[in-house]
Amino acid sequence: MKQIYLDNQATTMVDPEVFSAMEPWLKYQFGNAASRNHIFGWAAEEAVEIARELIADFIGVNPNEIIFTSGATEANNLAIQGAALNASSNKKHIITLKTEHKAVLDICDYLEKNGFSITRLPVNKEGMIDLALIEKSIKKETLLVSVMHVNNEIGVIQPIKDIGKLCKAKGILFHVDAAQSVGKLPINVESFDIDLLSISAHKFYGPKGVGALYVRRKNPRVSLSPLLYGGGHERGLRSGTLPVHQIVGMGKACQIAARVMEDETKRISSLRDQLLQGIEEDVSHCNVNGSMKHRLAGNLNMSFPGTQNEAVIAAVPEIAISSGAACTTSTMEPSHVLLALGLSKEMAYSSLRFGIGRFNTKQDIDTAVEVISRCMKKLQFRS
Ligand SMILES: *Cc1c(COP(=O)(O)O)cnc(C)c1O
Repeated sequence: MKQIYLDNQATTMVDPEVFSAMEPWLKYQFGNAASRNHIFGWAAEEAVEIARELIADFIGVNPNEIIFTSGATEANNLAIQGAALNASSNKKHIITLKTEHKAVLDICDYLEKNGFSITRLPVNKEGMIDLALIEKSIKKETLLVSVMHVNNEIGVIQPIKDIGKLCKAKGILFHVDAAQSVGKLPINVESFDIDLLSISAHKFYGPKGVGALYVRRKNPRVSLSPLLYGGGHERGLRSGTLPVHQIVGMGKACQIAARVMEDETKRISSLRDQLLQGIEEDVSHCNVNGSMKHRLAGNLNMSFPGTQNEAVIAAVPEIAISSGAACTTSTMEPSHVLLALGLSKEMAYSSLRFGIGRFNTKQDIDTAVEVISRCMKKLQFRS
């Protein structure tokens, strides 16, 4: 059976064009980008710098402000821990949201055990943060505000530009986890007043195991402490031999996104509308979680009262969907994001996430509507 992939917030397929760009760097061009004495090294270094420029251009920053990491988890760690370790002793307060990714929340938990105070702000029932709440929570000890651009479970887009403006006015560092938005929404770090921004290649048709942290170098110059010590790569912020093929792949993914983003967003958003309308027509008991107005085109998250998401997922093997974040799934706890929206545990357990991406077709959505409708007729309110 061919499975239709509708879990594009968990990860995406590597674009064939990305794969082709990576291939030579695995086959013949295997030099170490830090080797200074021969053409293998020079070629690798040049490829890394070309990719760094593509990535920097894509988010409107200087190439020397891009630090390569293993992904957004590491970028989030480097941003938040790196800023905390480097902070003066009177800056011990961090503000974030209850709906952040675990890669932000878990670092904050760790820092809290080590003398920092953390404010985890609630969101409204649409999943949106109220700017006034952030403003009220700022104290003179506040070091950093960390807010994700797009939520990985409900696709909700936070007002990053307004938060950036507020942080800038108060002289507080602003970190954005942009793992779900880079390559899908226009981002301009300068006009959004962002100081630190996390990127993950595998969320936008690049390879797994590579990402980047943007670190602002002027107005203000942001200083971080490294998490890893070694050869002093990446301006001392991230030691370790650079994975040239991965970095080339991420650069190519940015180049493609810059070219197709606008049309792709329209196409994916019409597929999402088709999915939502189809489900709403055929299934009488269902609701959408999170704002439909401020939402990523490819995301739909819905509750189906009277069902258990694990049972539904098992009953629709034709489509690959998820009950929430891939990492939350393994712990079998109800989604912390849906609970923060005010859903009961039962409602959270009845929720499904559909993630539509570049390689989905209208036909895929027809099939998804059909199998979900058929499954709900069988399962809903029957257990
Ligand atoms: C996927 C994701 C991460 C983790 O990224 P990795 O590159 O897989 O480590 C962090 N934050 C958000 C919002 C994500 O969607």
